[in-house]
Amino acid sequence: MLALELAATVRHDGHGGLLDTLADDAGVQAWLERTAPSVAEVLGGPATPSPSAAGPVLIDLRVVVRNLFARVVRPAPLPRAEVAAPLDPDAALRRLNRTADYLGTPQLSWLDDATTPTIAWSPRGADPVRLLTGAVARSAIDFLTGPDLVRLRACPAARCVRYFLQADPRQTWCSPTCGNRERVNRHYRKSNPLT
Ligand SMILES: [Zn+2]
Repeated sequence: MLALELAATVRHDGHGGLLDTLADDAGVQAWLERTAPSVAEVLGGPATPSPSAAGPVLIDLRVVVRNLFARVVRPAPLPRAEVAAPLDPDAALRRLNRTADYLGTPQLSWLDDATTPTIAWSPRGADPVRLLTGAVARSAIDFLTGPDLVRLRACPAARCVRYFLQADPRQTWCSPTCGNRERVNRHYRKSNPLT
């Protein structure tokens, strides 16, 4: 899911810092290639912005998306990336809606050989960056109003900043790596109560 894929572009580096996939053009390009099928699915065709143009705009949108995710998982401890960049809730909504609005009004489309109809957009322009961010924002709106929202979690592992979709009710951590690290930390704290 595109919005979750954008939120996941910032992660813990294992040494107390953060790694940002979108910090350089190569990372942005890799992300664009990996998410191209999902973007095409939303838009009904590809968006091919240059990485240098898309990077900063995607980082801005990521702040919006992660702030909205934070509002969902509250009162779970918030991943640090939001604590560092908190947004006014209304401002986050306005920015998301404005970004999604570039795709225009959804139209019902029905191809001759298809058994079911699909949604087609009437974009307000052909700017590839705005088409891309429009698709991500649209994906965020669909997710935040859809059935999967109840599964959104913020990983509670120390220093982890990941949001994830809980696969089953017992899943606590975003990954086995986080689960193992936390088990080791807890064991350490228990056997060294004064440290
Ligand atoms: Zn985690």
